[in-house]
Amino acid sequence: MDRNSPCPLDKEYSDHISALLSPPPPPQSVQEYYDEVIEATKCTGVRVSCSSRHGKGVYANRDFTKDELILKDQILVGAQHSSNKVDCLVCSYCYRFIGSIELQIGRRLYLQSLGLSTSKHCHDDTGSSSSINMNENSPPEEVLKSLINGNLSLPYTSQFALPPVIACPGGCEEEHYCSQFCAESDWTSYHSLLCTGSNTGESRRSALLKFIDHANGTNDIFLVAAKAISFTILRYKKLKSLQGVENEQHPTPDNSNKSDFSLLLEAWKPVSMGFKKRWWDCIALPDDVDTCDEASFRMEIQDLAFISLQLLKDAIFDIECAPLFSLEVYGNIIGMFELNNLDLVVASPVEDYFIYIDDLSQREKEEAERVTQPFLEALGDEYSVSCQGTAFFPIQSCMNHSCCPNANAFKRDEDKDGHATIIARQPISEGEEITISYIDEDLPYEERQALLADYGFSCMCPRCLKEQPK
Ligand SMILES: [Zn+2]
Ligand SMILES: [Zn+2]
Ligand SMILES: [Zn+2]
Repeated sequence: MDRNSPCPLDKEYSDHISALLSPPPPPQSVQEYYDEVIEATKCTGVRVSCSSRHGKGVYANRDFTKDELILKDQILVGAQHSSNKVDCLVCSYCYRFIGSIELQIGRRLYLQSLGLSTSKHCHDDTGSSSSINMNENSPPEEVLKSLINGNLSLPYTSQFALPPVIACPGGCEEEHYCSQFCAESDWTSYHSLLCTGSNTGESRRSALLKFIDHANGTNDIFLVAAKAISFTILRYKKLKSLQGVENEQHPTPDNSNKSDFSLLLEAWKPVSMGFKKRWWDCIALPDDVDTCDEASFRMEIQDLAFISLQLLKDAIFDIECAPLFSLEVYGNIIGMFELNNLDLVVASPVEDYFIYIDDLSQREKEEAERVTQPFLEALGDEYSVSCQGTAFFPIQSCMNHSCCPNANAFKRDEDKDGHATIIARQPISEGEEITISYIDEDLPYEERQALLADYGFSCMCPRCLKEQPK
């Protein structure tokens, strides 16, 4: 075979990859996409506008008063950090705390006593390190087990009731849910390809476990990337079967059918709205890496992604979705989480519980603390650790930055799940752009600009214009 003439299949494959990664569709179709998202999630107080000059922005569709809820933005793809799974038992779909206060406390102390805890989440850009936190104050194992299995209850916990724990329909021990709805939604949207339960065939199961092991040992961002790929494949299958049903009901000449690849493009659309750059190109250089080692650092990151992708391919490769498994696409998906930098945080009800105990009248408090104090001491300073993870929020990710923002991503007491909550910091009028701060806006000008450079822009907000050195 002539080496110079490219194999037609390879050519098609690389064209497909380029199509997946081509610059976002024209403003008109981006606009249409977000109109649909806003309609579907009932966030009608805002609209996403898109212009070729200014890119995307979110604008108020009506007036908002100070502290008013602007929108709740549903997670598109997200995951709890692996290291946080020991500390907090949450629904794998909506990230609500589940079980009971007793289960949360008992399970955490029990896992800590096994030496599994990483009570502080240490996550750097190249990988995550873990610190084992053996606990000498830990109550006896039997006590922890009775907390876990519900035989021992703590005072006043009935006021902090949590949804029951629903098991994964695929039988894995990794994922748990707050409701049948979340279990089914997760299964059909992401988890059915990634479940390591006994219902999964042995070869996929062992391949998945290798992939997960590698991610947990290097960087758990790979687990979120795998969810984004699984989400796209499952969406593709749904679109394809819908088209099949449509064809049976209304037979049409063959050529009016969408090609499989255009269905894949359609399935990929929600993720494609978020990506910007390849991970190894956009990742901020860690402080401990010398600038002269930058090239080799970026190469190492790319190699890491390559290994992870091979492991993922071994587990869930799908020939019809082959372009999704290219290193380019994988790098862009990870870069999307990196550049949009949206943390998933849900406050712990265990914190609320101990605050409640502390606020009781002196007599009631003393009585309650006779039971609760040993647990509080065993949990230590980290008793209030929240659920933490990474997530992509489609509308929030369109919000532009300002160092004097008019809105905040802020959870109120009633916001018990992982979805993003955007609150007005000040009155906002209809038509005004809604801005949030990507960084700590209390920092001085130079430091703000340095941090924002990692997001790839220099800030020209009213405050920066005023504060910039003349
Ligand atoms: Zn849930
Ligand atoms: Zn499962
Ligand atoms: Zn600024």
